[in-house]
Amino acid sequence: MSDHVGRLARLRDSMDGLGVDALLVTNLTNVRYLTGFSGTNGQVFVTAERAVFLTDPRYEARAASLVQGADIEIYRARLTDRLSPLLEVSGTGRLGIEAKTMTIDYRDDLAPRIPTVDLVPTKGVIEDMRKVKDPAEVKAIREAIALGDRAFTWVLDRLVPGETERSIAIDLEMKMREWGADEVSFPPIVGSGELSAHIHHTPTDRELQKGDLILVDFGCRRDGYCSDLTRTVVLGAATDEQHEIYDLVLQAQLAGISAVSPGVAGSAVDGAARTVIETAGRGDQFGHGLGHGVGLEVHEEPRLSRISEDTLTPGNVVTVEPGVYVQGTGGVRIEDCVLATQDGCEVLSEAPKDELIEL
Ligand code: ZN
Ligand code: ZN
Repeated sequence: MSDHVGRLARLRDSMDGLGVDALLVTNLTNVRYLTGFSGTNGQVFVTAERAVFLTDPRYEARAASLVQGADIEIYRARLTDRLSPLLEVSGTGRLGIEAKTMTIDYRDDLAPRIPTVDLVPTKGVIEDMRKVKDPAEVKAIREAIALGDRAFTWVLDRLVPGETERSIAIDLEMKMREWGADEVSFPPIVGSGELSAHIHHTPTDRELQKGDLILVDFGCRRDGYCSDLTRTVVLGAATDEQHEIYDLVLQAQLAGISAVSPGVAGSAVDGAARTVIETAGRGDQFGHGLGHGVGLEVHEEPRLSRISEDTLTPGNVVTVEPGVYVQGTGGVRIEDCVLATQDGCEVLSEAPKDELIEL
């Protein structure tokens, strides 16, 4: 059972520190986090005293069954039809808005309809709360990861010469949904041969061939929460270079995982893994950050990268996913989700990775 009531209570308690009288939450992921509502239209108006969820009649029944910890108001035409009275009753002069996700268009439409209220940009208020997962969130993430692990083991039999990247990506998606996933957390990446060196590859009709490195990066959602897993295998016997790259990426990944601990900077975790690859002379072939938070979004905070300003705390769930990509030849990436604990971390995925799998 998710603790929406507790989340809203903590947000109400923090309202003084935000320098606003009330906060209007418009980011749908944040709305879901706070209230449990999932749908395409919903806002939450929060003051120190109360929380009100607003939506339109399409979602009246769903809101009644999903929303926890907030009163529900249904507006037929405009948000401001119901929001304006709430602003007046609460005496709101300064209304916080979500600067990261409210569009200029949304703000320009809203502002003239509530002329006595100042719209005050706030940044990352709910996103900061979302960085630390509670037990119900960790449970959902574990379930999504277990489905992904199972799908990886299943798909190994499908990786045979003549199959296409596209058909394997579709199979992965179908299997995870068949086994109970809400949906994929992002379209699966299946990269084969030299295409495995494309960091965010879109599966093509290329047929798998003997000798190919095959990189699969995929995930699914359970109760809205995402998983994210990457494994790289080889079709047939691996070359010395394929072994060398795989072992290097694995050593880097293990170094990154060892560095995940409360109080450690996201940039330091990135550095722990990156140093391993740089020392081997392949720093230029690792062109992305080490990892990202995973939760209601597949890419969220905290970040593990050279420019990250995050510091890890218990309850963070992050990926650790170094890669080495040799253009024209192929790439290797190994990715697991890990949970920061009181004294280190727990690797949540169990898909095998100890050595390069030769199919
Ligand atoms: Zn991934
Ligand atoms: Zn990832």
